[in-house]
Amino acid sequence: MIQKENLFLFHPSLSTINESEVVYIQKNPTRSEALIRAQRKYYQKNKEKLTQNQLEYNKVYNKVVISCACGDKYTRAAKFHHMKSTRHATRMQNIKDGKFAGETKSLSRVNCSCGGHYLYKDRHQHFRTKKHIKYINNIAQEEIKEI
Ligand SMILES: [Zn+2]
Ligand SMILES: [Zn+2]
Repeated sequence: MIQKENLFLFHPSLSTINESEVVYIQKNPTRSEALIRAQRKYYQKNKEKLTQNQLEYNKVYNKVVISCACGDKYTRAAKFHHMKSTRHATRMQNIKDGKFAGETKSLSRVNCSCGGHYLYKDRHQHFRTKKHIKYINNIAQEEIKEI
């Protein structure tokens, strides 16, 4: 008769880890030949069931949502895709630059030399403001004086 603890060594999805099993593994780092054979035999005999267990386990595992360092969330199944995405890279860069993680160029705040500020996407509106036009005209006049 194979004990549940022994089976855990062979197939993790058979049981969830509990403290007694962890202790068992630490105390018994090597498996005996007889145990390995018994476990192989058990696996062959219950292959289908075990594979099904593994599939069920993967289904749940893949749905686990993880919070990324970039502040975004992804499921385990999408981890590879997320880590390679531009979205992740941009957010990480924003954080590194001390900006809001979700900041995109169009929503970035620009401090204008006229003393005003605007969102990049609204720059054309800003260039038409009295304050900005006055500033530009002043510069133009200064340049004329210098000539
Ligand atoms: Zn990320
Ligand atoms: Zn301006």
